[in-house]
Amino acid sequence: MDFTIPEDIKHMQDLTRRFVKEEVLPREEEIEERDEIPEDIVKKLKELGFFGVTIPKEYGGLGIGTLGWSIMNIELGKGHPAIGGFLSLNNGTGWRGLYLYGREDQKQKYLPGVASGDIITAFGLTEPEAGSDAANIQTHADKEGDNYVINGRKHFISNGPIADLVTVMVVTDKAKRARGGISAFLVEKGTSGFRPGQTHRKMGNKGAQQSELIFEDCVVPASNMVGQLGDGFKVAMCTLDETRLTVLAGAVGMAERCMEMSRDYAKMRVQFGKPIAEFQAIQWMLADMATEIYASKMMLYNAAWRYDQGERITREAAMFKLYASEMVCRCADRALQIHGGMGYMKELPIERIYRDARLLRIVDGTSEIQKLIIAKDILKEG
Ligand SMILES: Cc1cc2nc3c(=O)[nH]c(=O)nc-3n(C[C@H](O)[C@H](O)[C@H](O)COP(=O)(O)OP(=O)(O)OC[C@H]3O[C@@H](n4cnc5c(N)ncnc54)[C@H](O)[C@@H]3O)c2cc1C
Repeated sequence: MDFTIPEDIKHMQDLTRRFVKEEVLPREEEIEERDEIPEDIVKKLKELGFFGVTIPKEYGGLGIGTLGWSIMNIELGKGHPAIGGFLSLNNGTGWRGLYLYGREDQKQKYLPGVASGDIITAFGLTEPEAGSDAANIQTHADKEGDNYVINGRKHFISNGPIADLVTVMVVTDKAKRARGGISAFLVEKGTSGFRPGQTHRKMGNKGAQQSELIFEDCVVPASNMVGQLGDGFKVAMCTLDETRLTVLAGAVGMAERCMEMSRDYAKMRVQFGKPIAEFQAIQWMLADMATEIYASKMMLYNAAWRYDQGERITREAAMFKLYASEMVCRCADRALQIHGGMGYMKELPIERIYRDARLLRIVDGTSEIQKLIIAKDILKEG
């Protein structure tokens, strides 16, 4: 068992750390206030190749895999998480299904643009009537000659207002649903009958954009299908396995920042004549944070490495997602407590992290759904 981080990943980790220090931290309030990632930061991300970290080299990416991207996203989580969230779509969620199930000509057509950041991607599964119960989606596609006609509405879709390419899951056989009745299609921006709908206002997660996606007699060629007819549910679930690792890697970075800020503040803040770091109540909170961060990092490294070796890690991804999302909420809460009133003030990023962390127990499958996935897998055994 060798836990040494490979040289190419170490290099990207250092690069990301520098990028966060020099480009993101001085601008984090601006991202929060403007509720967008500034254009010049997006340009820099393109120059650094950060849109295509996980895309194999033959399609124009850096090809450093899920472990590499996870380690980078830990670093991005220490800045403003909007950036890691935005990049996560182009580093997997927006095209993983295409890569695993798509045809070679589809990969050749889209992946180089995704890797360069010229094609911004989105993943369209959730609908007003189908969140946790994803098999209950209503958006449907009917075959007409060589085309499919899509009708319906998605909501809460990340990158929805700006995406150039969406992998969208639709019903093609109502009787079969998750068992071969859902198919995945690639829908390009500008396709007649397809448009982003209302954007969503949120308690946190500023700088990231979510909206509805509206399909009204949207005609797509049958050749835009990802995989075979009825593969859509598999496409979505395989995508989520990887997404649960890489997106939640950002949570580990957020928690590390909470811990480091709390450590520094506790050493500096004096009450009752001594630094609050000398009070055992504070020390215990720091110890709990460090322990839980270490545990979640080990879970992530192990599961991401195994994913890169081609193993199926559905249970491990659900366990990590569950643990890391709950862990970051506890860390943000402790950090706020250690900072006292200052933690509640907008001058420090703690209150933002507290709000941002809360999303992670919901997005990409709630904590309750992760427990169902884990339990189902346990009950299959024995
Ligand atoms: C900011 C943001 C970005 C998002 N981005 C995307 C995206 O890019 N693409 C996309 O497709 N979706 C996206 N989503 C949707 C997200 O994945 C869903 O919100 C999530 O899966 C939960 O669905 P829901 O909101 O409909 O909640 P519901 O499914 O209505 O759940 C409500 C509550 O009931 C609980 N519950 C439901 N079923 C069970 C059960 N069987 N047992 C126990 N408890 C249960 C849930 O855990 C939850 O606590 C995004 C959501 C947000 C908030």
